Amino acid sequence: MKRLAILGSTGSIGTQALDVVAAHPDLFEVEVLSAHSNDKLLIEQAKKFSPNAVIVTDEKKYEKVKAALSSLPIKVFSGPHALMEVVQWESVDVVLAAIVGFAGLHSVLAAIDAGKTVALANKETLVVAGELVMSLAQLRKVSIIPVDSEHSAIFQCLTGEHKTAIEKIILTASGGPFLGKKPNFLVNVKASHALQHPNWTMGAKITIDSATLMNKGLEMIEAKWLFGLNNDQIEVVVHRESILHSFVQFCDGSIKAQMGLPDMKLPIQYALGYPQRIQNDFPRFSFKNYSKFHFDAPDYKTFRNLAIAKEAMEKGGNVPCVMNAANELVVDSFLKNKVGFLEMSDVIEKVMEKITFIEHPSLEDYEKSDREARILAAELIKKSQLSVY
Ligand code: NDP
Ligand code: MG
Repeated sequence: MKRLAILGSTGSIGTQALDVVAAHPDLFEVEVLSAHSNDKLLIEQAKKFSPNAVIVTDEKKYEKVKAALSSLPIKVFSGPHALMEVVQWESVDVVLAAIVGFAGLHSVLAAIDAGKTVALANKETLVVAGELVMSLAQLRKVSIIPVDSEHSAIFQCLTGEHKTAIEKIILTASGGPFLGKKPNFLVNVKASHALQHPNWTMGAKITIDSATLMNKGLEMIEAKWLFGLNNDQIEVVVHRESILHSFVQFCDGSIKAQMGLPDMKLPIQYALGYPQRIQNDFPRFSFKNYSKFHFDAPDYKTFRNLAIAKEAMEKGGNVPCVMNAANELVVDSFLKNKVGFLEMSDVIEKVMEKITFIEHPSLEDYEKSDREARILAAELIKKSQLSVY
């Protein structure tokens, strides 16, 4: 029986993780649930899964959650610091990191510091502070099991292999809803359109990142740190069916891939169950439904965020952190129709140019870079709005 802390339980990954838990009550027990603002769903989940504790990080929601659960033996905490404490509890075996964005970083570091196994969905953690996170994991001898489908695929391909035998990895990208489109089309797209992903149903932020290909850029950086790769060992190929979830090419030229229908429950279940494979009744892939697979080079010119992320990865230091912060801000603004689709890349690029480079950042440096990048991005968006209207 594994006792889980599910951080971000009200999100797309969090709710699917709870579906996996509900299907296997003999294998998993919920010790902790966390949400930010969705008090209603958190209360519902707490009543169903009876965790030892729930955390609602938005302090305005604390009283409501506390009152709703007052008759039950469930501790209720609030604020981001509670997350860092609770993940370190003796009674937690595995922490599923499914908070979105930079907000998930500190709880992952706290979990690793306490020696907890981390099932990692929050890719921004590794984009922002990959070196710091991985060196702490090595020091504490902690396993980080990827939940991101591409990284889960690579992780599965590497089982039984030596890391030194990797020649390169090839991340697959669905291409998102605007595959094949050009700037003259993209200039007019709105959030409602970009939120229609062809293959995956996900949270709003990652869905926009998939439409701009920033998601694949973030995943390149995530892979670099997770698997200890050099920049030139990471490639991207567009595979619009999302059936081959990524490839590893070895030093003898042999290539392994992991396949399956696009369903996040599969990598979530794999990460929570690892090293055990768990039987399930998810729909199976059939070649009858797929007579052809397509593979194409990504369009770095149109989807500039992919090129920007590659550049950030190559520059290193605090640059990926700065890029991530600017991206979080522009995506939020795009969702509120305050910035255009193509303008998002302009803002990110400008922020990256302006922030002071730090080659070996500390945690405090990352926090400062994140704050500064957000302020700058907000100013640039404001200016661009003024020039439009
Ligand atoms: P969602 O937006 O659906 O969920 C995010 C979760 O984080 C919610 O529980 C939300 O709480 C919580 N949250 C938001 N802001 C904060 C904050 N400031 N502090 C604490 N908690 C917060 O996101 P997804 O589930 O789609 O994604 C989660 C992570 O997993 C992301 O990093 C994403 O890149 C990654 N991922 C997601 C995939 C997917 O299929 N969805 C695939 C691969 C990776 P509330 O809703 O209560 O406000
Ligand atoms: Mg992915």
